[in-house]
Amino acid sequence: MKPFDPSTSIHDYLVFGEFGDVNPSITDSSTFTFLSNETMADSFQHETEGCFLYSRHWNPINKFLSNALARLEDAEAAQVTSSGMGAISSVILQLCGTGDEIVSERTIYGGTYAFFKNFLPKFGITVKFVDMQKPELVEAAVTAKTKVIYAESVSNPLLEITDIPAISRIAKTHGIKLVVDNTFSPMVISPLRHGADIVIHSMTKYINGTSDCVAGCICSTTEFINSLTDVNSGATMLLGPVLDSLRAASILKNIHTLHIRMKKHGENAMYLAEQFEKLGLKVYYPGLRSSRHNKLMNELRNSGYGYSGMVAIDVGSYEKASKLLEMMQQEKVGYLAVSLGYFKTLFSSPGHSTSSEIPEEEQKEMGLSEGLIRFSIGLDGDISIAFERIKKCLHELQIIQ
Ligand SMILES: *Cc1c(COP(=O)(O)O)cnc(C)c1O
Repeated sequence: MKPFDPSTSIHDYLVFGEFGDVNPSITDSSTFTFLSNETMADSFQHETEGCFLYSRHWNPINKFLSNALARLEDAEAAQVTSSGMGAISSVILQLCGTGDEIVSERTIYGGTYAFFKNFLPKFGITVKFVDMQKPELVEAAVTAKTKVIYAESVSNPLLEITDIPAISRIAKTHGIKLVVDNTFSPMVISPLRHGADIVIHSMTKYINGTSDCVAGCICSTTEFINSLTDVNSGATMLLGPVLDSLRAASILKNIHTLHIRMKKHGENAMYLAEQFEKLGLKVYYPGLRSSRHNKLMNELRNSGYGYSGMVAIDVGSYEKASKLLEMMQQEKVGYLAVSLGYFKTLFSSPGHSTSSEIPEEEQKEMGLSEGLIRFSIGLDGDISIAFERIKKCLHELQIIQ
């Protein structure tokens, strides 16, 4: 496969604003005028080049951001949404109806898990959760009713890497759509190039990178994106998770620094993961040579963007994890907060926060232990300072000797 450089692809996308502005004008309108009633009627039937109807459907700035996102994922087309969950729920409800089944990875984002487990059954959609590290279990779970295989490229919070090519082969054999949530690894992994059919992001995280808004996107074929925006039958058009245009404008600016940020997040995360490992801690990071995911990650990743900025460690007990989180915040390592992709380091204990939707028994089965701490490593200029502070906390709490 020819190497792909997402940052060059985005860099080459030049948008000219209304007056030649280097940043396109923000669309500050919900509705758009037509000079001819005929053109308006046409626009309800199919997209008319250069025409916009109503902002829930499309507006210029959301289109510009969507075009940049399509370039990020090497997709034909993309659509922005008001949240990651808005993207996930729209895609699933577009593809599935009563009686249909989904085969999903079991270690997925807590909100997605709750949507699959508690919400979809109301519509007669059944989700089978499997350990996606074992593709044979995916194959065994597929039936004639399966419409979607759902995975995260880097899973949350254990940072397992999905063998997208292997899962994609199963999906293609059975004519099923493979949907991949790539929130943890934009630029690092390009799932569509490895056989995924639809890629979803919570842009709330790395893509925006400033933790000042909630947003999402869907990247796929033009045909699929058109089906989502169809005036009479499209999930995003009819469910309405539209991104506000002011936010779209700010995310479009931030996306142009994504490559620099991913590189730095990755360098800092690699440094910390190696140092944690030297201290004898149990570390989860796909960039470590000792990680059982390192080989697959090297096969899948685009070169030059590292291994993303998420690192997890196990400190033994929930009590120790709680104390460490509070102490690290006092020591200015970063913030005790959920979410990721921010310029400052964020940390939390997944079992009692982002993954708390998953029942305790199932958490145990997944290997999600009580003492797990998840870090989203920041853009610190000198990450060794943060490491010294964390080490001091680990000593004081007698997690290390
Ligand atoms: C945060 C997150 C989501 C949900 O996105 P929102 O923007 O919060 O709706 C989905 N998947 C993953 C992996 C996430 O981290």
